[in-house]
Amino acid sequence: MRCAKYKRQIDLMQDGALDQASTAKLRAHLDKCQKCLAYQQESLKLRELMLSAPRPQVPAWLHHQILHQCKAHESKRLKVRKKFRLQLVPATLAVMLSFVLGSLLGVTSFRISALSSKIAPEQVQEITFFGESTLVEDAFFGGGSSE
Ligand SMILES: [Zn+2]
Repeated sequence: MRCAKYKRQIDLMQDGALDQASTAKLRAHLDKCQKCLAYQQESLKLRELMLSAPRPQVPAWLHHQILHQCKAHESKRLKVRKKFRLQLVPATLAVMLSFVLGSLLGVTSFRISALSSKIAPEQVQEITFFGESTLVEDAFFGGGSSE
């Protein structure tokens, strides 16, 4: 595992959210890796600082007000998400249409090239004539006769 993953696990371990097997692996890594050990010590210091900071007195109604606003915002967020999903439909159709048009264009160009080869048989003969007398065939037949 990479150090970045261990660093995430260090954070989880300090929150008490890491299982025992992963904790054992992490401790074994911390014995070997100085960078991760330094990260763990830094994050422990930060955690202590955060806990030692004075906590402001917050009125009880503020908590309810924040939750109420979150609920209102959540319904807006879900509406936006539905709109985004609906926008994916024309995008998907456009991609599928481009595939269909591309394959149709390929088939059409193949047919046109096949027709043009029928119209000009001299060109096809030149190609097959060139293909019949290649160096590979000469060497093959020449090699067979020398033995
Ligand atoms: Zn490490």
